[in-house]
Amino acid sequence: MINVQGISKYYNSVKAVNKVSFEVKKGQTLILLGPSGCGKTTTLRMLNRLIEPSEGIIKLDGKDISNQQPEILRRGIGYVLQHTGLFPHYTVAENIAIVPKLLNWDKQKIEKRSAELLEKLELEPGKYLHSYPGALSGGQQQRVGLARALMANPPVLLMDEPLGALDPITRSNIRQEFNRLDELREKTIVMVTHDIAEAFELGDNICLMNHGIIQQIGTPYQLLFEPQNSFVKDFFNEQRLQLELTVLSIADVWGHLSEQKHSESTMVSKGENLWEVLDSLQRSGSNRVRVNNPASGEQKVIGYRELMTAYSDFKNSVHE
Ligand code: ADP
Repeated sequence: MINVQGISKYYNSVKAVNKVSFEVKKGQTLILLGPSGCGKTTTLRMLNRLIEPSEGIIKLDGKDISNQQPEILRRGIGYVLQHTGLFPHYTVAENIAIVPKLLNWDKQKIEKRSAELLEKLELEPGKYLHSYPGALSGGQQQRVGLARALMANPPVLLMDEPLGALDPITRSNIRQEFNRLDELREKTIVMVTHDIAEAFELGDNICLMNHGIIQQIGTPYQLLFEPQNSFVKDFFNEQRLQLELTVLSIADVWGHLSEQKHSESTMVSKGENLWEVLDSLQRSGSNRVRVNNPASGEQKVIGYRELMTAYSDFKNSVHE
């Protein structure tokens, strides 16, 4: 769907982006992650021609975007920014109708789609369509920004720190909503963030950059357990324990998991990650839970000790 081949952007002597290549398949989310100034935003903005690359080729659906008119190209690419870019003197309805109007949709179609989308984004249409952005909370404005990007149902969505301006709790809530939203599930998404937890929660693949250069592209699992250099290894160190427990499922460590001789009725639902199992353990009155291996249907009763031993044994087996 998106194919980037050796793109660079030079500003005089600064190589903001240096020979970056990646592919994003249809329906997948790629996260551009890395420290401030590493070239994430510049890379993103080359994808919709807000910035022209100094070298390299970008193909969308097999077609070189440098041959397409930027305005036409951008109609097929939703764009969501940290500061929503909503027009303060336009109502929500007017803000989200901008692209559909350019596409000559009739009034009825615009109204139907606006109401449908706001509903999905948990903004009651009757209440919010005719409000001005200034009357909405940060989280609500961000949802309107997303609704605007999704209105004309573009196949591709670019997001630049879309949740960056929100407080941690609102961020986390919207992130969970993102994951549940069917409209987003079918989109091909490239998203910039410097928030590691966000990258792991939302990305199918993560492209970790430093000084304009890709350090590694891979799944969250690959970045944690198969780092290609010391930058990648060190980048996740501060949050490594939680990230690894979130990435690993019970099925991953099943072979290392011993069980207690106990009939415990609290069942942890299928396919949970180790972090969620820890949470269930904490909530269980007995410090024991029954876990299920979705691959085989087997069950085991375990406690903290069995869980953490299995995690540790799994890690040792990976590093051997
Ligand atoms: P990030 O999004 O990862 O924070 P950017 O892509 O915004 O990084 O910037 C990458 C590098 O390019 C930085 O060193 C930045 O200072 C430089 N840069 C970005 N835009 C310009 C510009 N218009 N002129 C000169 N340098 C720029």
